[in-house]
Amino acid sequence: SPGSTFLFAFDNTYAGLPNHFHRPAKPAAARAPKLIRFNHALAEELGLDVAGADDERLAQVFSGQVIPVGAAPLAQAYAGHQFGHFNPQLGDGRALLLGEVVSPTGARFDIQLKGSGPTAFSRRGDGMAALGPVLREYIVSEAFAALGVPATRALAAVSTGEQVARETMLPGAVFTRVAASHIRVGTFQFFAAQGDEDAVRALADYVIDRHYPEARTAENPYLAMLTLVAERQARLIARWLSIGFIHGVMNTDNMAISGETIDFGPCAFLDEYDPRKVFSSIDERGRYAYANQPGIGQWNIARLAECLLPLLDADEEKAIEAANGVLKAYGDVFQAAWLRAFRDKLGITGEAEDDRALVSDFLELLHQGGADFTLTFRTLSKVAGGAAVETLTDIFSAPLGLSDWLTRWRARIDDGRTAAERQAAMEAVNPALIPRNHRIEEAIAAAVYGDFSFFHRLVEALATPYVEDPATADLRLPPTPEERVTRTFC
Ligand code: AMP
Ligand code: MG
Ligand code: MG
Repeated sequence: SPGSTFLFAFDNTYAGLPNHFHRPAKPAAARAPKLIRFNHALAEELGLDVAGADDERLAQVFSGQVIPVGAAPLAQAYAGHQFGHFNPQLGDGRALLLGEVVSPTGARFDIQLKGSGPTAFSRRGDGMAALGPVLREYIVSEAFAALGVPATRALAAVSTGEQVARETMLPGAVFTRVAASHIRVGTFQFFAAQGDEDAVRALADYVIDRHYPEARTAENPYLAMLTLVAERQARLIARWLSIGFIHGVMNTDNMAISGETIDFGPCAFLDEYDPRKVFSSIDERGRYAYANQPGIGQWNIARLAECLLPLLDADEEKAIEAANGVLKAYGDVFQAAWLRAFRDKLGITGEAEDDRALVSDFLELLHQGGADFTLTFRTLSKVAGGAAVETLTDIFSAPLGLSDWLTRWRARIDDGRTAAERQAAMEAVNPALIPRNHRIEEAIAAAVYGDFSFFHRLVEALATPYVEDPATADLRLPPTPEERVTRTFC
């Protein structure tokens, strides 16, 4: 049989939800599918059996040309607030869910093809993906996995041999994404906007079973679920800020209920620290700027809470009070997670009253000094281990105030650990290597001309972000003025 080389133990549950949750979907034909990269380590983690499948076969399956046995391809319905404006009908317009698999450890995952052709939800879109965004999503999602930040994963990238029309004609590609699920805040909004309380309840029950089983036995399971979603999101965004990540399109349809980072569109990483930094070409007003992300996360959780109000309490006032409690909890959890993450980045153990000021003052110095975020924290780790202070001050164009700050910092980190211990602890949380914007663009530019070698090198290097391998020294450097990326596109 055509799927016989693939023994994916599909176990599809989303397809069992009512018909208006999804539509059947069929991948588009691709002229010349060619495998760019397959993530064998992830396939093994998932328990996918691809033994005996050569690259040609993998390209067939992960471009949608061959549907593996047991798959039930569907497009998921969802709505969403895009830059603050509600769109009641979005849905998978260029993606389809192949099916779900349960890994050997018992965890359930979606396997989704992105860029596989139009669906019932495509509206005016072509359902395709260009090579560049596919490679960016591959690089960043695997970098996140290695950094330890929750995110969807990359299983495969395949070029289709088709051309897709964007601002120019670009090579087409299909990305295979693995996610705890693809349920979004916008999935709840889709049903809530229609006043379909039964569907909202069915979705909430499904989410509890799949992602938050501990909520089932709570006094108020829906409130417990909302609280857990909010807390996970707060912790996730604190992690983003700790690595200088800017998502770029934090629309409610791009916020996963599972707490995983999803939809790496025009995302980017800070070079020099600037809390108002925006890269995305479509974020004209800076709604999704670096430091706005925690507030936007809370705004999105508020939209989710609105959908769930009828489930939280029969008495509307009590429901609103409960929802407000969750929003406050989100803020508290974010603040605590953010402060802990930045204490760790500074090598601070325990908690002292002035820690928040110590962190904020350091970030302010980075901002004033135009200092590279990643390089500064990595270098500070070495200074904690005894490296010369000049290695740090050299990163700042205006190191005014840095020496006073360092005196405060040295007093605070003096906690009985040896310098070497402190450096090791700091280097374990301050990555040496992140997917720098200019390196991603460089990988994409070469790939568009058919050379994937730099893409592969980058993906492989990013598998060990906390290690300083001499062979990847060039990838760790901040951009030169000519290399600097100022705008990103999706
Ligand atoms: P995104 O910007 O990827 O989060 O997508 C927002 C919405 O636009 C989703 O409903 C997508 O499915 C849809 N969309 C984005 N690009 C395309 C495309 N090329 N064809 C069809 N739908 C698309
Ligand atoms: Mg999206
Ligand atoms: Mg996207």
